[in-house]
Amino acid sequence: MRKGQFVLEQPYEYGARELVEPDWRRLPGFADVSGAEWRSAQWQRAHCVKSVRQLRGVYGDLLDESFYADVEADQAGRATMSLLLPPQMLNTMVPDAVPDSAAMRADPVRRYMLPVAADRLPGAAASHPYAARDSLHEHEMWAVEGLTHRYPTKVLAELLPTCPQYCGHCTRMDLVGNSTPAVHKLRFDLKPVDRHAAMLDYLRRTPGVRDVVVSGGDVANLPFRNLEAFVSGLLGIESVRDIRLATKALVGLPQHWLQDDVVEGMGRLARTARERGVSLAVHTHVNAAQQVTPLVAEAARAMLAAGVRDVRNQGVLLRGVNATATRLLDLCFALLDGAGVTPYYFYMCDMIPNAEHWRVSLAEAQVLQHDIMGYLPGFATPRIVCDVPYVGKRWVHQVAEYDRERGISYWTKNYRTGIEVDDEDALDRRYVYYDPISTLPPSGQAWWAQRGVPAAGAQAR
Ligand code: SF4
Repeated sequence: MRKGQFVLEQPYEYGARELVEPDWRRLPGFADVSGAEWRSAQWQRAHCVKSVRQLRGVYGDLLDESFYADVEADQAGRATMSLLLPPQMLNTMVPDAVPDSAAMRADPVRRYMLPVAADRLPGAAASHPYAARDSLHEHEMWAVEGLTHRYPTKVLAELLPTCPQYCGHCTRMDLVGNSTPAVHKLRFDLKPVDRHAAMLDYLRRTPGVRDVVVSGGDVANLPFRNLEAFVSGLLGIESVRDIRLATKALVGLPQHWLQDDVVEGMGRLARTARERGVSLAVHTHVNAAQQVTPLVAEAARAMLAAGVRDVRNQGVLLRGVNATATRLLDLCFALLDGAGVTPYYFYMCDMIPNAEHWRVSLAEAQVLQHDIMGYLPGFATPRIVCDVPYVGKRWVHQVAEYDRERGISYWTKNYRTGIEVDDEDALDRRYVYYDPISTLPPSGQAWWAQRGVPAAGAQAR
């Protein structure tokens, strides 16, 4: 330690890092792709990887057969999401070298966007006994089809069930994307135009809602005129004061948000929002610092220049991807310094099937929250939250009681969801969340092994 110079050894060493667009020409399938093609959203969408055959077309002999077989085995077995990877997203895997199989296996972006069977925990350990398809019970809380009314003043509008990229850990795996051998997806009944109209009609009739998350899926997959029509409808409702557009495409397909018609359209919406005193923001989902490239920064800044109030990041805490303080802080500084994106939340990975290899325990999440405090400005220090079934987001230090041995945490809430209007006990009940069993001490693991799925009484008390 040198006094007077404030040069101290710190657990995290901050240093401004320049963003880098990896050279896509290092990948055989993209060797001849021009800069103009790469910047084209149409080119990116037309060259997405949706199968192992197409993956082989990009990487060729750089990856060995066992890697391709491992991807194939996952898709045929436990994958809850089908493959869909824009070239932009693939190019951020092993960004600073010509990839080989070992580097790909270790890569954090690969680990959540291109799952392989060997990633998952073996046998029954792959899923928690209480994992569920719609683990947050969003469908039960639909006020009208696709509109989840869980919090008193906020709703989530799922406008469509597709995205330009599919994330292996998607919490809406029940509905979003194509069916896989492991998961037959639900389908909306209403036509999009009728569903969107029903949502707007509900919001006109429900003035207690002031905040609308416009999501999916990913709004980047909606023709822009349809998105503009829906958001314009929201802007016409006096009680709506906050609108957040959810799009992972800002990082997976930034080319979409850089198209002239999209930037101009966002400018129109932002102008109307400002005139009406409504806060219009873009929310994205970035999980690894290497995904924040100059193109991503350009897209984020284009949204800010168009007049949206903020671009914010809601990441997901995933083992092997970002579950260390260094990786979280590297990501937050890349977002904040490099792209003008405000780090906002990191969600603990929800209890969906086959996700135990990604999930971290509440105790680990609490340590991470502690370890990232004090480096970022307060307004950009993300809260790590647990989305507790039937409750909603709770900061990880809000837990009411925690049985660390068995990995069962108990939570309370201070509002009723849409399905609890007549439930007098809703605010007195305790709601549970479960740690991955593999993170428990031997005695806790033995308890689960003996009991299997505990009696229903342990679910809520
Ligand atoms: S972008 Fe969002 S909705 Fe789409 S697959 Fe990823 S996590 Fe799911």
